[in-house]
Amino acid sequence: MSILRKIRSIFHDDWCSECTSVMETRKKQLYMLPQLVGNYVSHSNASYYKKNLIKVNKKAEIPTGYYACGIYEYRCPKCNNKLVKLSIFLPVRDQEKVEEIIYFKNGEMNDFIREYR
Ligand SMILES: [Zn+2]
Repeated sequence: MSILRKIRSIFHDDWCSECTSVMETRKKQLYMLPQLVGNYVSHSNASYYKKNLIKVNKKAEIPTGYYACGIYEYRCPKCNNKLVKLSIFLPVRDQEKVEEIIYFKNGEMNDFIREYR
């Protein structure tokens, strides 16, 4: 694979980082992250999210001023590479103000995702 495609795949979260095939979304689920706007603290450890995320069915269930977290599970149909993306955003009216995007590439969130299947 060319270096250019490899680099570009970093910026396309639906592209496999191994073979640059388009990955399929296996699952997405919305959660509430109990952090208040203005006091956001970044965490990169999967255990923090497993402990704190609260499953919700829609954005309207998240109280005003609190963050939402969408978890997306991707799988590459070609090489079976897997990727989990956490998109942390503030729901503002009909918009989503993205605060941070976190990737887990080594299955760190797998047990958590499976629990909610
Ligand atoms: Zn792949």
